[in-house]
Amino acid sequence: MRFATFTHDGRRQVGRVSPDGQQVMPFRLTPEAAHRGVLPLVEAAARGEPLPPLEDRSLPLADVRLEAPVPQPRRNIWCVGRNYHAHAKELAASVFKNNSANTMEWPIVFTKVPECVVGPADPVVLPGDEVSAQIDYEAELALVIGKGGKNIRRQEALSHVWGYTIVNDVTARDVQMRHQQWDMGKSFDTFCPMGPWIVTADELDGTRTRVRCWVNGELRQEASTENLIFDIPTLIETVSRGITLYPGDIIATGTPAGVGMGLTPPSYLRGGDVVRIEIDGIGSIENRFV
Ligand code: MG
Repeated sequence: MRFATFTHDGRRQVGRVSPDGQQVMPFRLTPEAAHRGVLPLVEAAARGEPLPPLEDRSLPLADVRLEAPVPQPRRNIWCVGRNYHAHAKELAASVFKNNSANTMEWPIVFTKVPECVVGPADPVVLPGDEVSAQIDYEAELALVIGKGGKNIRRQEALSHVWGYTIVNDVTARDVQMRHQQWDMGKSFDTFCPMGPWIVTADELDGTRTRVRCWVNGELRQEASTENLIFDIPTLIETVSRGITLYPGDIIATGTPAGVGMGLTPPSYLRGGDVVRIEIDGIGSIENRFV
């Protein structure tokens, strides 16, 4: 099933998207619950409870404004750097120069702050050249944790995945490079477009799906998640080592080759550019940079 967070009549709601993708059926949620997007659904599922009841009406998807399925995650979004071999190679002289591409035993893990999440069609605000003139896109499959846990073993890891969505891990490259940690260059306001909804894990095998990204209609990134260096079970095992994962936690799995910094010469995003990311089995997000 696909679960979306959206605004209709000035009110945030959560709904189930119809199989043909044309309609969305809202859940009966209190305004406080709906404000948290799909999180109440994830938490109910993690407790083994049924989904909340649906309203007996459907809205045309064209009549609602989709928001990020989790408009404000309960804490930082876990992210993974250097997780496709070709991407590791294209940034070997810059971002990954201190990491030898084929011998790393552990993934690079960083986070984005929850407040940088925006919806699947929302504008991404460039911070101004004096803050950063090197804004880049990163198309990524993100997984949403269902049942939480600590020290989750890779053999059981996929049973902790509630669903999948798309994120653009927008990055200020100069800021990423300037500091020893990446969080700053990854967490500018609006720097995490997410959506268009969450597809539950029973409907999508996130371990083998295709990720693509276009900038102004030009295909820049294309890869299968089968090519991840550290696969999804390994990422869950790694992030949960000594740290409890909670329902609704989000892990972005890393980006394929083809980012702007990897081009010759590098090409960064400017006002008016449109970045579209599509993942097979989920759908697409498309954001204009302003
Ligand atoms: Mg990334």
